[in-house]
Amino acid sequence: MIQRNTFWMISEENRIVFYLLAAIATLIFIYGFYRRFKLWQKGRREKIKWSDVKTNAHFFWKMVVQQKKIQIDRLYGVMHRFTSYGFVALFIGTVLVVIDYDFGVPLLRGNFYLVYKVVLDIFGVLFLAGVLIAIIIRMKKQRLRLWYSIRDNMLLWLLFIIGVGGFILEGIRIASTKVSYGIWSPIGYTLSRLFQDVSLFSVDMYVFWWFVHSIFVFVLIAVIPYTKLFHILTAPIQILMHPVKRTGTILLPYDLQTITDEALLQSPSVLGVNKISDFTNWQLLSTDACTECGRCDSVCPAYQSEKPLSPRNVVTKIRNHMHQTYEISTFISPSELQSCTTCGACVEACPVSINHIDLILGMRRGLIQRNILELEAENTLMKVEEQYNIWGKPWSERANWSRGLQVPSLDHENVSKSKEA
Ligand code: SF4
Ligand code: SF4
Repeated sequence: MIQRNTFWMISEENRIVFYLLAAIATLIFIYGFYRRFKLWQKGRREKIKWSDVKTNAHFFWKMVVQQKKIQIDRLYGVMHRFTSYGFVALFIGTVLVVIDYDFGVPLLRGNFYLVYKVVLDIFGVLFLAGVLIAIIIRMKKQRLRLWYSIRDNMLLWLLFIIGVGGFILEGIRIASTKVSYGIWSPIGYTLSRLFQDVSLFSVDMYVFWWFVHSIFVFVLIAVIPYTKLFHILTAPIQILMHPVKRTGTILLPYDLQTITDEALLQSPSVLGVNKISDFTNWQLLSTDACTECGRCDSVCPAYQSEKPLSPRNVVTKIRNHMHQTYEISTFISPSELQSCTTCGACVEACPVSINHIDLILGMRRGLIQRNILELEAENTLMKVEEQYNIWGKPWSERANWSRGLQVPSLDHENVSKSKEA
């Protein structure tokens, strides 16, 4: 009968060890997720609007499924598609095994099982190819925008070893069971031919390889919420559920058209961001979706002209200091915030929809609340307050520029004449 033989060659004791390790990895994962979830809750509550989710659904399809923004960089786009599609398919494959074996629902049987084998082999190859491209890009330092860290390299190698491990186990299984439908796993079948008479991949080594593979998988599960792999979960949530805003709209804590000075003074709402808890919960979550890809830096005019601002740094600093209670200014300097031109290029480039402008402007308002202002900006505001113009010229000289140009003035007489006409 054609069916999956889960835990082939694995003794009862080893299965117990397996489930114990699985439980530990899952608990570490849940704790990591819960920890970040509690940190997001430090922010001001901004409720999910289901109308926003509906609007975002189309965007979700383009950004998460089709990965349009990532495709702009061709090689990187191929790498990310292969890796992510492969990862999702392998994850679904594992869930089906759990349903079949642990929940006793007979799924992986007959023809369905054969299709399952082919599909998983194909996506397994895509996954490995994607991870390999990522490793080569990093080894050759082919993208200037990337941060190159040992930690990121280790994560890629972890994914690669897991992918290869799965195929090794499949190869040994097919080589020793010689099942008639082995060919339905093309990669496993090819490996099974290569493994003939190789003692390292003999049936006696199966339990060893099985444990090695399982341990690497559990390490991966456990580290997801503690590394940038967390974006696998947070990026889709952020893209699907973040509050919808028209490009260029500035997020204000009050309505400029209706607010009065008095109301503003008495307003309980947070005017500017001075502490982590002054951000909204969605803003905090969005920083956890950052993949550190550097696309925002590479299009930022301030960063490119060597001003003291890196939008990626702003995002990652908020993310990394989320557990702190001290003032934002202790880790993000006023000059960083004041260097932003609010051009929006970073927001446009970000593949996970982080809104850097809202983050930066909120913190800038926080600076103004604490009377921290650039001298130039301060002088300009003083001129507006005193002379009603940014140049500081007297009110009486306001129309001087139009002398001799015969520009009609909007005085009472002219307005009446134009009405009559
Ligand atoms: S909005 Fe600010 S941070 Fe973003 S790209 Fe423009 S200058 Fe840079
Ligand atoms: S903020 Fe967006 S564009 Fe910038 S590094 Fe993070 S994910 Fe990339």
